[in-house]
Amino acid sequence: MPQDAQRVAIVTGAARGIGAATARRLGGDGMAVAVLDLDAATCAGTVEAISEAGGTAIAVGADVSQADQVEAAVGKVAADLGPPVVLVNNAGVIRDNLLFKMSENDWDTVLGVHLRGAFLMSKAAQKYMVDQRYGRIVNLSSSSALGNRGQVNYSTAKAGMQGFTKTLAIELGQFGVTANAVAPGFIVTDMTAATAARVGMSFDDFQAAAASRIPVGRVGQPGDIANVISFLVSEGAGFVSGQVIYVAGGPLC
Ligand code: NAP
Repeated sequence: MPQDAQRVAIVTGAARGIGAATARRLGGDGMAVAVLDLDAATCAGTVEAISEAGGTAIAVGADVSQADQVEAAVGKVAADLGPPVVLVNNAGVIRDNLLFKMSENDWDTVLGVHLRGAFLMSKAAQKYMVDQRYGRIVNLSSSSALGNRGQVNYSTAKAGMQGFTKTLAIELGQFGVTANAVAPGFIVTDMTAATAARVGMSFDDFQAAAASRIPVGRVGQPGDIANVISFLVSEGAGFVSGQVIYVAGGPLC
């Protein structure tokens, strides 16, 4: 792609949490950002923050697990901003429960949003990247990929994201497209607040307990993940592909 063209990025699940921080960061990096979430109206805050900082952003509503909505959304981004060459598959949900109490619906919902969603979004966006002979895909995995009580659906999805990422890297590398996964540990968002509520702890106590187990002595913030994604989608990261980067304040095994 031309050196001076403004790159177009799509960040899914970007109305709040890690996705919002990532969209703001990529806007600050000079990209035109499609802020995608289930309901376009909920993206207004993120879009406004990017615009107020001098960047370019649009709100896009789509359920990433629905093929027709994904096709329409990616087409809209290409029409309104230009061909998307950066994709961050961040949209996520949790439906935690122990295996014996987990419903089929909770299993299907979590795998549908994370895995089917990343598949559909990547499939729709890669054609623009291949055309441009340039692309960057980042998929959100999780420390839960290593196993986590009460999250058999989520840990399966997040482990799946890692295999998905490595295969994208192998298939798309020849077209100048890299794919990497970021696997956060504990990040302060509505998602971890919901987990605190599920285990019956105040969010402050839950964070303090997590921080006591993290080598750097604190929990993560959405900006900690956005910083890493910013690097992975940069031009300079073109020789980094198929990697899973744990961003968890310490090593995980
Ligand atoms: P969050 O605050 O719950 O935000 C998730 C966003 O995704 C919400 O805006 C949500 O929209 C949106 N979303 C859900 N289903 C969607 C769908 N089908 N289509 C489009 N958008 C959808 O979560 P977060 O903590 O920022 O997490 C972001 C990503 O990081 C997720 O993939 C998560 O699994 C991963 N992660 C988080 C942590 C952590 O500690 N927070 C750790 C490891 C990995 P609504 O608000 O409308 O539901």
